[in-house]
Amino acid sequence: MSVMRYSAFSIFLNGLRKNTGWTSAWRFPEPKPHYDIIIVGGGGHGLATAHYLAKEHGITNVAVLEKGYIGSGNVGRNTTIIRSNYLLPGNNPFYELSLKLWEGLEQDLNYNAMVSQRGVINICHNDSQFAAYMRRGNAMRLHGVDAELLDRDQVKSMLPFLDFDNARFPVQGGLLQRRGGTVRHDAVAWGYARAADARGVDIIQHCEVTGIRRENGRVVGVETSRGFIGCNKLALAAAGNSSRVAAMADLRLPIESHVLQAFVSEGLKPFIDCVVIFGAGHFYVSQSDKGGLVFGGDIDGYNSYAQRGNLATVEHVAEAGVALIPALSRVRVLRSWGGIMDMSMDGSPIIDRTHIDNLYLNAGWCYGGFKATPASGYCFAHLLARGEPHATTAQMRLDRFERGYAIDERGLGAQPNLH
Ligand SMILES: Cc1cc2nc3c(=O)[nH]c(=O)nc-3n(C[C@H](O)[C@H](O)[C@H](O)COP(=O)(O)OP(=O)(O)OC[C@H]3O[C@@H](n4cnc5c(N)ncnc54)[C@H](O)[C@@H]3O)c2cc1C
Repeated sequence: MSVMRYSAFSIFLNGLRKNTGWTSAWRFPEPKPHYDIIIVGGGGHGLATAHYLAKEHGITNVAVLEKGYIGSGNVGRNTTIIRSNYLLPGNNPFYELSLKLWEGLEQDLNYNAMVSQRGVINICHNDSQFAAYMRRGNAMRLHGVDAELLDRDQVKSMLPFLDFDNARFPVQGGLLQRRGGTVRHDAVAWGYARAADARGVDIIQHCEVTGIRRENGRVVGVETSRGFIGCNKLALAAAGNSSRVAAMADLRLPIESHVLQAFVSEGLKPFIDCVVIFGAGHFYVSQSDKGGLVFGGDIDGYNSYAQRGNLATVEHVAEAGVALIPALSRVRVLRSWGGIMDMSMDGSPIIDRTHIDNLYLNAGWCYGGFKATPASGYCFAHLLARGEPHATTAQMRLDRFERGYAIDERGLGAQPNLH
């Protein structure tokens, strides 16, 4: 399919034409009666899966069904942090694959996603945490991932505005991943959508899946707000709504949905040039190109499918932020919003086929799924096309909880609200 290539030259040319030459970035097709693969969910993961199915495996008779508009879910609501600083072998190679895909994403998609490898630094506040970060950094290096352990003075030279002598949470050092950073979240949805559409994938917005039709036990298609659509394979990538969609096939998932809020402040002069993550509470912050501080904290702590949270968590996040950066107490918050997190029982995701024929699952991203978007799509496409898991997702199986092979990165046990 022909699609307009974006370049400095195309901007120049369209400037001369008074910007009348731009075409729609993707089509708005009517659903066909049948597809080889239907993907439920036009978030980052669903759209990335469609792109890699088409690009890597030549499978283009694919539809992405989205109940709202693409980017209206978590992909457009997150705090945009990407990193691959994981400890466990079940996670680390996967997130590193993702970071490598981020590094080439804009060229791959011919789309400016504002990938900014400005560095991610986890601050540590006591001896045992310093030892834990040392261990994590060593594990990362053993996997070929960049990691630097910083002492207090090194952190101070990078982030002089932290409260180094806080009586409860003195800063002792940090774990830095320079290749981590931020990516403009909704541009990721748009870039993947445009690239998948250009290869022939149908992206069908305002099409809610309301039922999963099975014949002789096998999935044969979905009931939607726009009628029945048949398929050979059904791929669920519905993030916070995973449990509700899977329940349409009588599948009960080891997932709870919780709301997570994020915040942006008024625009400030640039002073945070990396991503800073508090080690003694839940708080992480970066500064957007417009100057706003983009920050978040913990989930609200109760099960919910609502995309808004409560004020107690706003207070909790603000307290943690001010404990780390006292100057924040004078900053005004401009906006806040919430998204629905599919919290798995061990804090790690699931990319697997289910016991129901033709039904595949991509879920359990908790609040770390944005950074996983490229690898998630890449590996889910691999599973759908080849019928076997990609090597980096070998442990991300649905039955790992029954078998006792949890991937519990934080060692917290089966407590989805704590991961
Ligand atoms: C406030 C916040 C901050 C976060 N910060 C980060 C971060 O800094 N770094 C990070 O790595 N991760 C972060 N995350 C997590 C990350 O955003 C998610 O894990 C990830 O985006 C989930 O995958 P997705 O993009 O496919 O989800 P979504 O964008 O939510 O896509 C799922 C889609 O499925 C659609 N859908 C649901 N049910 C149906 C149905 N029945 N029919 C059709 N469509 C349906 C939804 O409308 C939605 O568009 C954050 C999340 C939030 C909310």
